[in-house]
Amino acid sequence: MEPARITIFDTTLRDGEQSPGCSMNVPEKLRMAHQLDRLGVDVIEAGFPIASEGDFAAVQAIAAVIRRPIIAGLARACRPDIERAWQALQDASRPRIHVFLATSDIHLKYKLRISRQQCLEQARDAVRLAKSLCQDVEFSPEDATRTDLEFLLQIVQAVVEAGATTVNIPDTVGYSMPAEFGELIQTIRQRVPGIERVTISAHCHNDLGLAVANSLSAVAAGARQVECTINGIGERAGNASLEEIVMAARVRPDRYVYKTEVVSEQLFPASQMLSEITGVPVQPNKAIIGRNAFAHEAGIHQDGMLKNPLTYEIMTPRSVGVPDSTLVLGKHSGRHALNLRCEQLGFQFERRELDEIYRKFVVLADKIKHVEDHHLMELIRETHGGRRIPPAPVADLPLAIAAAAGSGRDYPQKPLSFPLPAEFSPSGLPLNPMAEHHSEQEDYLWGV
Ligand SMILES: [Zn+2]
Repeated sequence: MEPARITIFDTTLRDGEQSPGCSMNVPEKLRMAHQLDRLGVDVIEAGFPIASEGDFAAVQAIAAVIRRPIIAGLARACRPDIERAWQALQDASRPRIHVFLATSDIHLKYKLRISRQQCLEQARDAVRLAKSLCQDVEFSPEDATRTDLEFLLQIVQAVVEAGATTVNIPDTVGYSMPAEFGELIQTIRQRVPGIERVTISAHCHNDLGLAVANSLSAVAAGARQVECTINGIGERAGNASLEEIVMAARVRPDRYVYKTEVVSEQLFPASQMLSEITGVPVQPNKAIIGRNAFAHEAGIHQDGMLKNPLTYEIMTPRSVGVPDSTLVLGKHSGRHALNLRCEQLGFQFERRELDEIYRKFVVLADKIKHVEDHHLMELIRETHGGRRIPPAPVADLPLAIAAAAGSGRDYPQKPLSFPLPAEFSPSGLPLNPMAEHHSEQEDYLWGV
C-alpha cells in the first residue's frame, strides 16, 4: 500500500514565536525559515502580519526569498487582517491566507460577544474575502474541541462552501484525548458535504502532554495536514512537536502508514538553531532532539550498545542529525564502557588491572556525577604508581563512539591494542575463571 502523504505545516515562527521567551526579530526569523526549507516542511506559517510591523516585515521577507514551501500568513476573520496578510504575502510563490475565528460558546460569549449566527456569517464572509484574493485559504475554528459538535459541523460546511481549501481543527487549549480527537475528525469527514474536496488539518496543544498523540490520532482518522513546531514550542505547554511526529511515522511505518517529505537529518540542526536564536534550551530528556535522547549511562545499556546499537536504539542518532550517541561514564557504567574509554585514551589493561581501575572508578563515580577523561587519567596514574603510559594515536573519541554506536554499520570488533611496558605487569592474584565469570556478570547488575 502506498503510504499517504502528510503535509507538515510548521508554525514555529507564528504559534511558536508567541511562547514566552521565544520572540524573534526579522533576521532571526529569516534564518530559521531557511532551515525549515532545508528541513523540507511543506508550509511555513511565517507570522501574523497585522499583529505588528515586525511580524509584517518577517512574513514579507520570508515570502520574498523562500520559494519552495507554501508561506502562510495568519488573519482574524475580518477585512483589515485579511488584507494585511495578503499584502505581506504579495511576493510569495505559493501564498496561503490562514483565517481563524473562535467557535466555542465560551469564546463567543466572553471574548467575541457575538451569537452563533453572527459567528457563522463572519466565518463565511471572511473566507469568501480571502478566497477573492488568494486561491489557497485555510480556516480554523478556534477552540474547536470545546465547540458544540452540531455548530462546528455547520461552520465547517459554511467555510468549505465559501472556498476554503484546508480546514484546520485546533485543540486550542490542549483539552482533547487521542481517541476523542480522532472521532471528531472522523465525524467531520462523515457528516460535512464536500469535505472530501478539502484537506483536514490538526493543530494540537500540549497542556496535557497529548499534542503528538492527538495529532497522530487525527492522521489515523483521515487528517492529512499536521500543524507543529520545532522543539514543540508554542503557547503555554506548546504545540505538537514536529520532530516527534515525523519520527513516529518513520520508525513505525507498520502502524503509521504515512510519509512526509521532511529530511530527518535536518531535525537536530533545526532544533539547535532555534535554541540558539531564542536562548530557550530543550529539556535534556526531550524525545528525538534532547541532549540525553541518545545517551546511555546504565551499564547494561552501555554494554549492549557497544555490542550492537540496535539493543537500545530504535533509530540512529545520525538519522535525526545528531553527530553521535553519547556514552556517559557515571556510576552506572560497566567495565565494557570503561575499558573502551581507556582504550580510546591510549591505554589497554588486562582484566585484573581493569578490575582495580574499575573499583576506584565506582568509588569516584559515586562522589561525582560524571567521570571525565582527566579524572580517568588520574585514576590510571594512581593505579600505576604515578607512571604514565604514553598515549598512542587512536581515533578521536567522538569518531570512535560514533562508529560504535551511531552508524549501525562498521563496528570496531576489537579496539587497537597497546602492549603495556614490562613494569606494568600486574601483581595481583592469578586469574580465576570464576572471578572472571563473576565480573562479567557484575556488569549486568547495573541499570536494570
Ligand atoms: Zn495554537
